[in-house]
Amino acid sequence: MQRTRRKVATSSPLKRGSSTGRSGSPTKSARAGSRQKKTVGAGRQSDTDAGLVEAPDTEAVNASDSSLAFTTPRMRDRLARLGIFRFDDIVLHLPLRYEDETTLTLVSEAPSGVNVQVEGVVAETDVKFRPRRQLVSRIEDDSGTLHIRFFNFYPSQQKALAVGSRVRVMGEIRQGLFGAEMIHPRFRVLRADTPLPDALTPVYPTTAGLSQDSLRKLVARALSEIDLSETLPEKLLHSLGHDSFAATVRLLHHPPPDVDGTSLENRLHPAWQRVKFDELLAQQLSMRLHHERRSRIRTHSFPMPTRLPQRLERALEFELTGAQRRVLKEIRSDLGRAHPMQRLLQGDVGSGKTIVAAMAALQAIESGFQVAVMAPTEILAEQHYAKFSQWLEPLGVNVSWLSGSLKRKQRDAAIEQAVSGDTMLVVGTHALFQEQVVFRNLGLAIIDEQHRFGVHQRLMLRMKGSDSDQQPHQLMMSATPIPRTLAMSFYADLDVSVIDELPPGRTPVVTKLVADARRDEVIARVRNACAEGKQAYWVCPLIEESEVLQLQTAIDTFEHLQAEFPDLNVGLVHGRMRAQEKAAAMNAFQSGQCQLLIATTVIEVGVDVPNASLMIIENAERMGLSQLHQLRGRIGRGAEASVCILLYQMPISEMARERLKIIYENSDGFEVARQDLRLRGPGEILGARQSGVPMLRFADLETDLALLEKARDVAADLIQSHPQCVEKHLSRWLGGRQDYLRV
Ligand code: ADP
Ligand code: MG
Repeated sequence: MQRTRRKVATSSPLKRGSSTGRSGSPTKSARAGSRQKKTVGAGRQSDTDAGLVEAPDTEAVNASDSSLAFTTPRMRDRLARLGIFRFDDIVLHLPLRYEDETTLTLVSEAPSGVNVQVEGVVAETDVKFRPRRQLVSRIEDDSGTLHIRFFNFYPSQQKALAVGSRVRVMGEIRQGLFGAEMIHPRFRVLRADTPLPDALTPVYPTTAGLSQDSLRKLVARALSEIDLSETLPEKLLHSLGHDSFAATVRLLHHPPPDVDGTSLENRLHPAWQRVKFDELLAQQLSMRLHHERRSRIRTHSFPMPTRLPQRLERALEFELTGAQRRVLKEIRSDLGRAHPMQRLLQGDVGSGKTIVAAMAALQAIESGFQVAVMAPTEILAEQHYAKFSQWLEPLGVNVSWLSGSLKRKQRDAAIEQAVSGDTMLVVGTHALFQEQVVFRNLGLAIIDEQHRFGVHQRLMLRMKGSDSDQQPHQLMMSATPIPRTLAMSFYADLDVSVIDELPPGRTPVVTKLVADARRDEVIARVRNACAEGKQAYWVCPLIEESEVLQLQTAIDTFEHLQAEFPDLNVGLVHGRMRAQEKAAAMNAFQSGQCQLLIATTVIEVGVDVPNASLMIIENAERMGLSQLHQLRGRIGRGAEASVCILLYQMPISEMARERLKIIYENSDGFEVARQDLRLRGPGEILGARQSGVPMLRFADLETDLALLEKARDVAADLIQSHPQCVEKHLSRWLGGRQDYLRV
């Protein structure tokens, strides 16, 4: 008899806490699955993926070489959605939670409000209409009578509950009008003396069209046929105090009834610890191998520059901070090596990353190599173009500009300059990645706000110079600080430099939370500020979906505020404007001609107008933490005390309230990022999901720091002294997918 799948989700004593298992929810897994499918599909036919690792060239594949060929294409498709591409992967498709079907309770003794399993004989089954259509069965065991009711049911269920059938039903017993009853219980019809299972029943993350029963069967088959032998050296296993891999996965798929259910559900059980450790280890190994592979690639090295950077530094109207000097030194020494740099330059908004990038660029340029500077938005790219031109043109360095919105002729001209080597530094948006843009001799690629470029790693591959064996050095910049755990895991293959000091003379931004009802006060404040010669931003989110989401459009706000402030020059900038209009609006604001700039979040990154000291953010409750922090970073850049007012509209959700509280209480970008990680999980913060870095399914960076640290140490050790273990471990955990990691 089939189980009624829909009821699998009824609660059990073991269920509690499982919903907090972040990485394990079915939607999450399904999403992860589709991601992986995409990643793999990008390079190869997914049908042939199975078996890639172990038998890449054999056509005939059977179960023992890890293929899923014994299943139907439809089944394979569904499994792929769960991230299962090889037979081996099934072993690591671990339960979300468990149900206890190992014991029976007598009807008369069943406590109410708790999941129990009762066994009895069907004495009566009827479809009744009181008050609505329902299937009711009366079941009797040695102690009493139980009614079970279904409001939605299939004829097959009615048939299965024929009088005289022996059934086991699972659910909560309640006292109804006619005595003990269960609503929509899960039930199973028994053949003669079906024994009670001797293990808890696993409940797996699944997807439409794939039943728990099918998954359980696949798992059982995998556990008996797949090679579960150890990937770790025995001595190491001992010192870590872990059980063998085989024992671990057997326990997790079929826990004995006396297992500590709580620790299993909380994923703190030693078996879970082993699995999480293995997962983190695989990640560390792949990152480390990638790092090593990269360090073997050769590229041009640029000797320590002398002339150009010195001249630039002398021309600056400020002194570099100690932190800027320190990171510059790190970058310079990388550029002096014959291996491609891959360095992430981190620094809070306003910490002065751009000048560091410019100094680095000069090192390549002085050696006769070209530099590409790439930014995620037109506005930011344009600002960079202005800055780099201002700094470098006086030194005789040709700077040019390339964006998707340029007219064909200008574009062709810019491309021609890059190809011919007339221009030494090209600033642009992702138009820079386009096929035709082949640099004569690209030596350094600088990518600002790198996390905005989801697939930057793969894109970067195309940014080769014409001499295509040479990979350019890469400097990535980000104002989204990476908390230590993320840096240690997802960014373990990058070298990181941190600017941990703001330029002097900055005054911290004061953040205020104001309910939208008090808008008038805010308007008065803007009026006063502008009257004193200050400038202000007014940020409106989400212009396009505004109708649906009832957000004010930037255009409405613009018109409204223009009417409100007839004697001010009010500007408008939003994502749908043409590049030229956008540039004109930004220039007017930059030059101080415009006092109040109404903007969508296009100004989120990189805009730099030091005289602006007031910012109003509308519907702040709808924005993400890092977005708010970035926006707020646009002010507080001059000596003037700056104020950021977050307008919110009631009612707001718990989550939104928490976000506003965090941004209100913290001005330190690292702390904001840490809290963001806590609220959203790592994938979304870094766009890592798209970047090809393996996501973690089981380990949780927030709680598993100790395991992560151990995995890092062990990874170094294994690569040194047990390469065959490394290979086996990666094959088990990443299968063919490690090929798709960034190279
Ligand atoms: P971010 O790190 O957010 O990209 P920017 O590079 O845009 O920051 O720098 C912010 C502002 O600080 C710019 O106006 C820049 O010219 C200025 N700046 C950078 N370094 C210094 C410094 N050492 N002293 C004073 N001002 C600086
Ligand atoms: Mg910047």
